[in-house]
Amino acid sequence: MKTVYLDNSATTKPCPEALETYLKVADEDFGNPSSLHSVGLTDEKHLTAARRTVAETLGDRGSGKVIFTSGGTEANNLAILGRAHAKERFRRRRILTTAGEHASVGMPLAALAEQGFEIVEIPTVGGRLDLAALTEAADRSVILASMMLVNNETGAIYDIAAASRILKASSPDAILHCDATQAYLKMPIRPSALGISAVTVSSHKIEGPKGVGALWIDSSLVTSKGLVPHLLGGGQESGIRSGTENVPGIAAFARAAELGFASLNRRMAEISRLRAYFEEKLKSAPSLSELRVNRPEKAAAHIISLTAPGYKSETLLHALSSRGIYVSSGSACSSHGRHSTPALAAFGLSEKDADSTVRISLSHRNTEEDIDALILALIELLPGLART
Ligand code: PMP
Repeated sequence: MKTVYLDNSATTKPCPEALETYLKVADEDFGNPSSLHSVGLTDEKHLTAARRTVAETLGDRGSGKVIFTSGGTEANNLAILGRAHAKERFRRRRILTTAGEHASVGMPLAALAEQGFEIVEIPTVGGRLDLAALTEAADRSVILASMMLVNNETGAIYDIAAASRILKASSPDAILHCDATQAYLKMPIRPSALGISAVTVSSHKIEGPKGVGALWIDSSLVTSKGLVPHLLGGGQESGIRSGTENVPGIAAFARAAELGFASLNRRMAEISRLRAYFEEKLKSAPSLSELRVNRPEKAAAHIISLTAPGYKSETLLHALSSRGIYVSSGSACSSHGRHSTPALAAFGLSEKDADSTVRISLSHRNTEEDIDALILALIELLPGLART
């Protein structure tokens, strides 16, 4: 059975170049980058080169620092807890976020709420950041705003540049952190142009290995102690994240990032073409007329949120899976929880529709044949599936 992998926002297959880099560095340059001898020095060079590469993919020509982490989750925790704890002595401590962030943002914020921080969620109905609500919430007590760039379930692109302008005008102590896990190398991102001080990226979403990611931060956050570490130890990563770095993983991540950045426009065009092809095919299949694509006002093309009213998303997912076609229901990382769709609720879907929604996420490596197989499977499978 041919595999049709359409769950690229959960994870991607690592590209051959990243795997090759991983093996080479793990095998030949196995030293500890903190060691002073030449084996260690070689590893330090890999880290320096990887840092430069990741910085370049974010259009950074020297104003920032790349802090390598174990992935997007850790980078989000570092940004949020690191900023909150740097400002915990403030009397009023408000943190702004959006409704429907990934759990690796939502959970640390919930923990901070327990510790007395005030968390304000800005609505994102229809995939649009509510700038009026943000303006109202942005006062002098804000120390942090954590807002994603691309929503992992709907593909909605939030107007982060506008959010940044509002914060700059009203909240002098605020920094803007952006979880760009689903945006990175799917669209151009320049933190300096967007007015962001911290950006989360993750390797396994861009054809790198799992367990690697980075938090890009404005260098002034290190010098001003505007972000404090929560992993304490040997002082690696500018003292912001101690622990011997995963050098082969980081080098492989950087290789994948380098390739993704060099072909960003081509990949974006390919994904947009595939999405248009999917939508065209869906429209021209009369038996699928009930299915609905949830379309945010502004969206990244690689995420397609598809509601099949009357069918449970998990039933649909398993039926497709039995044909070797892989999609997800809600986001894969939240499938451990019972309610897996906070982002869909934030988008405005009813609980019933959210429970009938699958996410199809495209890679530039998908083909029209993959889309044909999906459409055909939907046409053949739906009549036989139990309705709710
Ligand atoms: N943020 C978003 C928006 C994500 O989609 C994910 C991964 N599903 C993460 C953070 C977590 O990244 P990682 O898997 O690298 O921990």
